[in-house]
Amino acid sequence: MEQKVSIFDTTLRDGEQSPGASLTAAEKLEIARQLTRLGVDVIEAGFPSSSPGDFEAVRQIARTMEGPVVTALARAVKADIEEVWASIKEARRPRIHIVLGSSDIHVQHKFNRSRDEVLETGVEAVRFAKSLCTEVQYSTEDASRSDRRYLFRVIEAVIDAGATVVNIPDTVGYAVPGQWRRLIADIRRNVPNIDRAVLSVHCHNDLGMAVANTLAAVEAGARQVECTINGIGERAGNAALEEVVMALRVRRKHYRVSTGIDAGDLSRTSRLVGKMTGLTVARNKAIVGANAFAHSSGIHQDGVLKHRGNYEIMRPEDVGAGDTQIILTARSGRHALRHRLEKLGFAITPEELEELHGRFLTLADAKKEVFDDDLFALATDRREPDQQRFQLAGFRIESGTSVPASATVSLGTGQGVVETTSPGDGPVDAAFRAIDEMTGVPVTLKEYHVDAVTAEKAALGEARVIVERNGSVVSASGVSTDVVEASIKAYVNAINRLVAGESGRS
Ligand SMILES: [Zn+2]
Repeated sequence: MEQKVSIFDTTLRDGEQSPGASLTAAEKLEIARQLTRLGVDVIEAGFPSSSPGDFEAVRQIARTMEGPVVTALARAVKADIEEVWASIKEARRPRIHIVLGSSDIHVQHKFNRSRDEVLETGVEAVRFAKSLCTEVQYSTEDASRSDRRYLFRVIEAVIDAGATVVNIPDTVGYAVPGQWRRLIADIRRNVPNIDRAVLSVHCHNDLGMAVANTLAAVEAGARQVECTINGIGERAGNAALEEVVMALRVRRKHYRVSTGIDAGDLSRTSRLVGKMTGLTVARNKAIVGANAFAHSSGIHQDGVLKHRGNYEIMRPEDVGAGDTQIILTARSGRHALRHRLEKLGFAITPEELEELHGRFLTLADAKKEVFDDDLFALATDRREPDQQRFQLAGFRIESGTSVPASATVSLGTGQGVVETTSPGDGPVDAAFRAIDEMTGVPVTLKEYHVDAVTAEKAALGEARVIVERNGSVVSASGVSTDVVEASIKAYVNAINRLVAGESGRS
């Protein structure tokens, strides 16, 4: 009998820790919905102690999702565990996830205590969590650099205390596949009560081996793997869910395990996460990159035409790529619009459909043919929080080869509409300066770029900015057929997010 490997998705926790990838609660919910459709077994929705906004996002996800286990991260302290429980207790299947270091580096330099003291802290945390929740996961942070004998003792003790899942993280991305496989096998051999818990791994990609290490652990008997969509996460990121899942699937005879993932949804999920976090994937990225299935050499093209198996180990449709493009026009009704948006992964309420349909008609009038990517941009553009501090009311630009650039921007604020004119190095810079003057929220622009959403002439432009203020970094995007307008929208959205974050709403 083939065994099942549980897919634990931490896009909304570890993934969201990528610099600039901050998500609003509404965006997290949207991604959680798509992860549920994708068929992940566990959604790690956040780290509730990090901010009131994250707490609220986790709570909404826990309330809403049917199907997957919903978990959130706690340090091994009572206050964190209580907060996690408060955020997830309404889930149909809640799980408390506790993390505590097990390496000497962490034991000595992070906690400044003895191994035995740290072990006891972990055991007490599990006992307390267990008094609240049936499912408790324990992560031995920095396991790859831990003393093995001590690691085995910790695992045995936390299982005795009630942990149902023990996760072994390669927190710093230090492991290599052969050694990692042996560690997992040794844990199974040396921890007497290991059969009472699910063994899990969590691998980081600092040496580019997160996926390889994860798969090596599966060979050694790990039956839960932690990963993120597109491999986003701290530093170089985590094991990419789509790569792990497709490796297990394409090489099923080798691994002899299955997952509950609907691979046909991988491409769509990747796109949703890429758009919402602003972390777009490289064209050559395995499974979900734009070129992942593109054959360019003549020999390969000829070979594939003769027989696909000549150069293809999987088909684009297996992961939902190359899905036939449906083009909508101004004559496409609400029903067609709704259907297409649902195909793209959006859950739309009737009121949202009304609002989107109005904007869809404006766009369809401007550019005749509306592609999936355009719809995607429309749908994600709407997802800004309702109570925006500043709204773009209008703008006028002067720029050219013989005149200095200047921008006049009108901004809706709590106290009505204000307007300012500012010069600048080009129209976008002038507009941003005018906005800075009016908001009184000085930010540092870290990144700015504009992309055409689709390739035709009347395409939508999508601008994305990353801005920083007092150490917090946020990204935001704006969409319009006018790239200056798209840029201004992105900038205003980013400032709204910063202000919302500062007042405790994420
Ligand atoms: Zn991590």
